[in-house]
Amino acid sequence: MSDYKNFKILFTEQQIALRVQELAGEIRLKLEKFNPDEIVVVGLLKGVIFFLVDLIRALGSPDYHVELITVSSYQGQHSSGKIKMTDKMCNIRDKVVLLVDDIVDTGRTFASFVNHLKMREPKELITAAFLDKPSRREVEFTPDFVGYSIPDHFVVGYGLDCDESHRSLADIRIYEKD
Ligand code: 5GP
Ligand code: MG
Repeated sequence: MSDYKNFKILFTEQQIALRVQELAGEIRLKLEKFNPDEIVVVGLLKGVIFFLVDLIRALGSPDYHVELITVSSYQGQHSSGKIKMTDKMCNIRDKVVLLVDDIVDTGRTFASFVNHLKMREPKELITAAFLDKPSRREVEFTPDFVGYSIPDHFVVGYGLDCDESHRSLADIRIYEKD
């Protein structure tokens, strides 16, 4: 078991909280063109949990619907390249979908979900990720909203795990093996 106390902190709890508020402000400007009750926020589990909760509360509308989809591609620190998903989502036809994930890496997760959701004919599809590693991209994808762009590090905390550990850290740290 790695000792997280020695991991370098990339973003503190305070930096995260501040950036989430700013990001929510940016996203709100985009969403206020639509009726609140046509907006569906879709989170990609499990990594998104902290960001999703903070973001929804910061967006501050009681009318948004929230849906969760389970998806996984990482085994340990390595992307398997294959996306596994379970999807029992509500009807999103003619809805405004805000698709939210923790981090964009190769871009495969977002790209495949965007394709998957577009087939269901939403009125608009907007994407948001708290972190982005643009140097790791293998498929073309640029999120509409990003919290922070970061270099190529494997990070944990604020919902992000390594084989299910370190998810509950309040800050975001660079993972190091023993
Ligand atoms: P992509 O499909 O863009 O390669 O990967 C996206 C998913 O891989 C993210 O939703 C996240 O779950 C996982 N992932 C990518 N980079 C990292 C990272 O640095 N740390 C952790 N914990 N997960 C990551
Ligand atoms: Mg994820």
